[in-house]
Amino acid sequence: MPYEKNTANCETIKMDVPKKVIIPMLQHIGAPCKPCVAKGDVVKVGQVIGDSDEFISAPVHSSVSGTVTSVEPLLYPGGVFVNSVVIETDGKQEIFEKIAPPRISNTKDFIKAIRESGLVGLGGAGFPAHVKLSVPPGKKIDTLIINAAECEPYITSDYREIIENSWNVIGGINTVMEFLNIEKVIIGIEDNKPEAIHEMTKVADTSDRISVMKLKSRYPQGAEKMLIYATTGRKVPPGKLPADVGVIVMNVNSVSFVAEYAKTGMPLIKKRVTIDGGAVNKPCNVEVPIGTSLKDVFDFCGGFKETPKKVLMGGPMMGIAQFSLETSVVKHTNALLAFTEEESNLPPEGPCIRCGRCVRACPMNLLPLKLSKSSLRENIEELNKYHVNDCIECGSCSYVCPSKIHLVQSIRLGKAQIRAAMKGGK
Ligand code: SF4
Ligand code: SF4
Repeated sequence: MPYEKNTANCETIKMDVPKKVIIPMLQHIGAPCKPCVAKGDVVKVGQVIGDSDEFISAPVHSSVSGTVTSVEPLLYPGGVFVNSVVIETDGKQEIFEKIAPPRISNTKDFIKAIRESGLVGLGGAGFPAHVKLSVPPGKKIDTLIINAAECEPYITSDYREIIENSWNVIGGINTVMEFLNIEKVIIGIEDNKPEAIHEMTKVADTSDRISVMKLKSRYPQGAEKMLIYATTGRKVPPGKLPADVGVIVMNVNSVSFVAEYAKTGMPLIKKRVTIDGGAVNKPCNVEVPIGTSLKDVFDFCGGFKETPKKVLMGGPMMGIAQFSLETSVVKHTNALLAFTEEESNLPPEGPCIRCGRCVRACPMNLLPLKLSKSSLRENIEELNKYHVNDCIECGSCSYVCPSKIHLVQSIRLGKAQIRAAMKGGK
């Protein structure tokens, strides 16, 4: 796949507030939030509109000021229906009165503040940040790794954060180091981004505990376990977490947000999104209020040159195809790509020729063909035996397969079968 970072030099532009936002109550991995507003309520920027008592969850805030017009299940970017708060904006963008910088004097305050900020992994994972930063009892974290690899083609959201806000990145790193008592930080950037390496090295030079590591450019270098190995040489065993090998990994936008939140107290209500693909008129990086519809975002970016054949939320390797432009930008949306018919054409699947390329390409040392077959046979026992849940859905197996077998799609289905079996107590 070509490198295609067309928007690397596109400075972030701020989108106008749309007439309406749709804010889903599930924008993270974990339990959905319960709405705490109802039709007719007036809300302000930064106000909590949904929360949950569960630990693995993150509150949701209003990105606009306006009036709630409905609370109902609506189509989510993942293709399912999720309870959502619809707000008609008033254009005033009045800030919620209770917004103030958090008071943080110890680790407990810090974790509480991160939870209240609504931060989730901004690299696309959507895992609640306060959960990731809560070090399990008995574990010691000695290294914080900042993921600035941004290895997927097209996406330049992390790159722009470094170029535009490098001091915020350092500020966030210092805050995390201080409250989690971490000794050392490694910022991993692929070697095809020399300007980002230069900029980050310049600001990191202010501390002898923070270093920038140039990483080989290869997909999926930004996958958590690969990044940990590339930066520290430590291997995270199957079924284990980064904390088991003494590290925490944070996305560069996430850590930068920590600094911003500590200064202002404004929760996560906006997102930088890379807009690209052959069907787009004006590829760019745009700062979008969370909840803005995909249609409004594309319209703001000059609309389409031609009707797109395929629209992806996320990159071409891991992104999710969208059925409708009425779905909205959520916390972990880092790119919207609209491809022409020519760019979207997939050759038909052929028979497996047992070449083994998928196995060699898998960064997690899995057997993609076996996983795909087990999924198609709905064989839960085999899916577990071949460690389907270790698959990071990077798409490398499908990409290298000469027969163009839809391996990652069937592996995703296999994971869904496991989840369903667990729910059903099988
Ligand atoms: S998508 Fe394929 S290559 Fe990537 S981790 Fe999963 S099985 Fe391995
Ligand atoms: S890469 Fe494709 S053709 Fe080769 S073994 Fe894997 S599934 Fe079969």
